[in-house]
Amino acid sequence: MVMMDVTILIPLVLGWFAGLFINYVSDVLPLTRRFSQPVCTECQTPFSWADYLMLRACRNCGKSRSLRTWLVQILTTASFVYFWLFPSKALGIPLGMIVIIYFGIITVIDLEHRLILFPTSIVGAGLGLIVGTYIHSRINHSLVIGAEKSLLGGLFGFGVMFVLYQFGTLVARFRARKMQAAGQADDEEEALGGGDVYLAGVLGLMLGWPFIWDAILLGVLLGGLISFLFIIALVVRRRYSSDLLMTFIPYGPYFIIGAFYKLFL
Ligand SMILES: [Zn+2]
Repeated sequence: MVMMDVTILIPLVLGWFAGLFINYVSDVLPLTRRFSQPVCTECQTPFSWADYLMLRACRNCGKSRSLRTWLVQILTTASFVYFWLFPSKALGIPLGMIVIIYFGIITVIDLEHRLILFPTSIVGAGLGLIVGTYIHSRINHSLVIGAEKSLLGGLFGFGVMFVLYQFGTLVARFRARKMQAAGQADDEEEALGGGDVYLAGVLGLMLGWPFIWDAILLGVLLGGLISFLFIIALVVRRRYSSDLLMTFIPYGPYFIIGAFYKLFL
């Protein structure tokens, strides 16, 4: 039976445009810190909007668009279709779509630049408060309690990561001193980026108390597990060094996976 509801075109089209938006923000915001004209990553020639939005190659040097661009288009469109058919019980369809766009932008920028931008954290805090209040006021049948749970979650997420961040800074300082003593230059590696603290606050607002607890735990376990597997792989290949334990773990994406799991699945 070949029956296809035409309404499926709605998430397909919306998802494709959402992907374009995620790509655009991820392309320009980390470099210019504003909504500027996109340029070719190879030769810096500005794209015309038509070329950019049609995902055409650069007219100047012929460099085709990045693999990430296509991955984002496909993954965003696919997730829009999936959550159209099986909407998040906590968020519903429209709010779910906005959260997917937000998570997409944060994830791409964090993976490519190891960076969580302050403006995206501010926008995220606003979105987080709306989402958290929405979820918890439906559970508690009270807008005030909903807002309280959201704020409490934000405070908890921010607080826990702030303490961990301070601890990470101590470790980094100890390591820098050790490297200086050994005559090596300090590489200013941070165990936990400061942006992760803001991100945990945003996700805390979004999930509210007590759900943020599960998301952080899930994120830390997942991040730890993958780092552990990575170290094992290096030990097996005899390329382990004691410095490895100190290498940067970008927790951002793992927290987002944790929050995504709680919100959508
Ligand atoms: Zn070019």
